[in-house]
Amino acid sequence: MSHYKTPVEDISFVLFELLKAQKLSDLPAYAEASEDLQRAIIEEAGKMAEQVLLPVNESGDREGCTFDPESKAVKTPSGFQEAYKTYIEGGWSGLSSDSEFGGQGLPHLLKIVVDELCCSTNLSFGMYPGLSHGAIDLLSQHGTDEQKSTYLPKMIEGRWTGTMCLTEPQCGTDLGLISTKAVPDADGSYAISGTKIWITGGEHDLSENIIHLVLAKLPDAPEGSKGISLFVVPKFLEDGKRNAAFCGGLEHKMGIKASATCVMNFEGAKGWLVGQPNQGLKCMFTMMNAARIMVGIQGLGLAETAYQVSLGFAKERLQSRSLSGPKSPDQKADPIIVHPDVRRMLLKQKLFTEGARAMAYWTGLHQDLSHAAEDETQRQVSDDIFQLMTPVVKAYLTDEGFFSTDAGLQSMGGSGFTQDWPLEQLLRDGRIARIYEGTNGIQAMDLVGRKLVMNGGRLPRTYFAELEKLIEGLDNDVHREHCKSFLQATQKALAWLAQNAPNDPEHAGAVASPLLKMFAYTTLSVMWANMAQLSHDEHVSERFSGDFLAGKRKAAEHFFRVYKGEQLALLDDVVAGKDTLMDLAENEF
Ligand SMILES: Cc1cc2nc3c(=O)[nH]c(=O)nc-3n(C[C@H](O)[C@H](O)[C@H](O)COP(=O)(O)OP(=O)(O)OC[C@H]3O[C@@H](n4cnc5c(N)ncnc54)[C@H](O)[C@@H]3O)c2cc1C
Repeated sequence: MSHYKTPVEDISFVLFELLKAQKLSDLPAYAEASEDLQRAIIEEAGKMAEQVLLPVNESGDREGCTFDPESKAVKTPSGFQEAYKTYIEGGWSGLSSDSEFGGQGLPHLLKIVVDELCCSTNLSFGMYPGLSHGAIDLLSQHGTDEQKSTYLPKMIEGRWTGTMCLTEPQCGTDLGLISTKAVPDADGSYAISGTKIWITGGEHDLSENIIHLVLAKLPDAPEGSKGISLFVVPKFLEDGKRNAAFCGGLEHKMGIKASATCVMNFEGAKGWLVGQPNQGLKCMFTMMNAARIMVGIQGLGLAETAYQVSLGFAKERLQSRSLSGPKSPDQKADPIIVHPDVRRMLLKQKLFTEGARAMAYWTGLHQDLSHAAEDETQRQVSDDIFQLMTPVVKAYLTDEGFFSTDAGLQSMGGSGFTQDWPLEQLLRDGRIARIYEGTNGIQAMDLVGRKLVMNGGRLPRTYFAELEKLIEGLDNDVHREHCKSFLQATQKALAWLAQNAPNDPEHAGAVASPLLKMFAYTTLSVMWANMAQLSHDEHVSERFSGDFLAGKRKAAEHFFRVYKGEQLALLDDVVAGKDTLMDLAENEF
């Protein structure tokens, strides 16, 4: 049973009231992205998600992908081919891609919105264009002119899809351990040999060609991560011949069953170097920020659907009477939404989806400003914020999106656990987002080990300065003080880290995850306070319903009630450092 409506009102509130995304069209790079166009895109993307992707979501989960060991072909579930055709004919695959190669060149922020709708309605489907987009980004940034003109137009059009082939049986997080080999041929190409596992979209029947981006080692490569190079390996070569890159089987997994997760065997396949020799990991990192934001959005998209379903359920399911007396006296019981404990779960979901949307879109706006703002200082500020927030968005949205979906399932009782309702699928589908594209533990290490210390610690300074400006703009003194307390707690945690981690890096590893959450809560506090402020605005109230705005105001109060204490508890956790975590010897576990 599917219940999903594109949350147009909330998306518009965040885009046009909170972030003023319509101003992007003042920038020459995005002159076409007027408010009217942005609204039209949201409307059309909503139709596509609801009418094309949603109808094949549950059936795709039940049917899954199938592998034929004879032909090595992978079949996607019924309806996926038609849905993919509609998707690419609508131009969705090239929304934010370079117009030089056939893309529409629109802001990434809009792509983030469209991604959210796709993830809400069919995460498995979204994986195929999602991985292609990562491959497009990589080739755009590091490919030669010839590689760009060979691959990008067809990939942007969606007729060819892309993959990212990093993982091998012996290495996931630690890519320095890869053993796939690349041996130079006389014609300037390389023979690629090795096995990659868990490759999303490694083989399928949606596109005419599949372009693999493969990490491999040259014969004379240095040991470890300094010796990894990147290669482009098409399934079909330019003359139409089949390249020796074959699917060896499909993974049987907990969720996203309609997304083909493949073992890929490269059997001396022809490939071409992308970027410089031994610089493959660096190339990967340059596109990872965008890919990580997209994975974060998966957590948001699934949680939004879970919220809509469980909220609808809570308004209809009749059980027990309200503690303050009957609310539906003509019925045998009241709807469960009257019960405080059910409300606690529903409010957790509301706070997550609306707060996470504001935080992720704010980050997406800075992504666009980081390269399109006319003023160099603004570009720098925005790049700092985008870089710092990337691991926060990826990890917080996928962790808490999962827990928010779980709260929705719990609020539905046994119904949530059955296949009569979509929550069990949403929960299974969402679990992987906390693992791939760098586990959430690794995101926290990225924040602490790279982002906080880059450029002499400039990124957190820029972030705090930007939030302080937003806090100064608040009219509500109480909210201003609340936000300051979130920010100061995070600053105290950083001061502790600066004092203790240099002498003992295990402290940094121990506090990384709680610290990442503190950055999330700090950002959310400022987002909620600003949303509450907007709810009082005369012009805003002309465009939004009274219920919608009252909901924002009251939810903001609940945010501060629940999360202010949590922020202080996280600070306690940080300043305890590695103590108790590292005290046990291995055999004491
Ligand atoms: C459905 C699915 C799709 C995928 N798609 C792709 C794809 O398209 N392309 C691709 O290349 N890969 C893909 N992957 C692989 C995915 O990216 C990896 O699973 C992920 O990077 C983690 O690697 P691992 O599973 O080997 O875990 P490991 O690296 O073995 O990690 C195990 C645990 O140890 C922790 N850990 C490891 N090192 C550290 C450290 N230094 N500090 C702290 N904690 C640490 C991790 O956080 C994790 O909790 C996919 C996986 C799945 C399941």
